[in-house]
Amino acid sequence: MTARQVQNITVLGATGSIGQSTLDVIRRHPDKYRVFALTAARSVDIMLRDINEFRPRYAVMADESAARHLGAADTGDTEILCGADALAMVASHAEVQQVMAAIVGAAGLLPSLAAAEAGKRVLLANKESLVMAGPLFMAAVARGGAELLPIDSEHNAIFQSLPQHYGGDFAPHGIDKILLTASGGPFRGKPRSELAEVTPAQAVAHPNWSMGAKISVDSATLMNKGLELIEACFLFHCLPHQVQVVVHPQSVIHSMVQYCDGSVIAQLGQPDMRTPIAYGMAWPQRIDAGVKHLDLFDIARLDFMPPDEDAFPCLRLARQAFAAGGTMPAVLNAANEVAVDAFLQQELSFNAIPVLIEQVMQRHSVAPTDQLDIVLAADDWARQCARRIIAEDSL
Ligand code: NAD
Ligand code: MG
Repeated sequence: MTARQVQNITVLGATGSIGQSTLDVIRRHPDKYRVFALTAARSVDIMLRDINEFRPRYAVMADESAARHLGAADTGDTEILCGADALAMVASHAEVQQVMAAIVGAAGLLPSLAAAEAGKRVLLANKESLVMAGPLFMAAVARGGAELLPIDSEHNAIFQSLPQHYGGDFAPHGIDKILLTASGGPFRGKPRSELAEVTPAQAVAHPNWSMGAKISVDSATLMNKGLELIEACFLFHCLPHQVQVVVHPQSVIHSMVQYCDGSVIAQLGQPDMRTPIAYGMAWPQRIDAGVKHLDLFDIARLDFMPPDEDAFPCLRLARQAFAAGGTMPAVLNAANEVAVDAFLQQELSFNAIPVLIEQVMQRHSVAPTDQLDIVLAADDWARQCARRIIAEDSL
């Protein structure tokens, strides 16, 4: 491979779980990939260590005091920047070919959109941006001529299991439905009555995956699967009834596509995000991801069961939000972010998370999302509404 083919990558959310896995894949292929920019909210120590290893052109801290702190350290030739404009700049820079969108939550929307508008290969981990602004995001991808590669393991598996030239319509390809797998999280099998007292520490202790705190809580409430259902509908141009959630506790099958002739195509692998990350980076080729091979004899059995929507109402709320359309998925997402934050701060019980989200959704008047400002206003409204309900202490 010649130097011209080395791909410059911006890693948004570089200090997080996905960001660090991405850097590990890049580390294994210095002949193919170079870090152009690293970004984070405020983890100065990790950022400094990674600047020293990867020597990026830019490092962006979203937080101003963190940027000052980092700027005071020896960062060699790396330029330290701060704020939203800098995030968008490194996501859309002319010298960048790929952008890993791995900021957590709604904060990821604007830089992910900037990468899409600029026609980059967008490695999308930040599912919240698609949930909030799916139609706008997909329009930006089309307008910019971007390549959207899903990194969420389920969507990556679906992408791998769909026909190569899938054009966004099930029927011509004989596709029946998508089977979206879910581990069920740490509280699988528990009735709602037993969930009232669970602690943040119990909720973030995921049985199979090691992830950031927010997505770990989302996995425990099944909101993660709700967000992923919406994500699948936007990514693959389908409707919720065409996506069946299948609880599969071993997390070996990462999702499947069922065809009209009775075939089911699945992608299997270790629960290690470096596999979908490497797939997205190298597609349509494959590269070593540093992931140990699957030993089927070791796994021995695979179990499947339907989700318990009484104990975990978030899946139903996500379906309702998608059906309501417009700004409602953005409201679902924002209310969930506030609820998860409050749960982690021990201001809200586990079972109050869906109750709070539902109350916020009930108070919202849906608007069409043809403009970004409307999405951002709905996000802001939902956060304020959720915080007001928490302050009333009526849950
Ligand atoms: P994490 O909490 O470990 O890392 C989040 C990153 O975003 C950090 O680098 C942090 O500094 C940065 N960040 C946080 N708030 C920010 C802000 N306001 N502005 C700018 N940067 C900010 O999260 P994670 O587990 O790596 O997840 C990242 C995204 O990937 C999420 O959207 C998550 O849903 C998705 N995802 C994660 C996994 C996983 O295995 N961790 C799997 C699938 C999808
Ligand atoms: Mg996932």
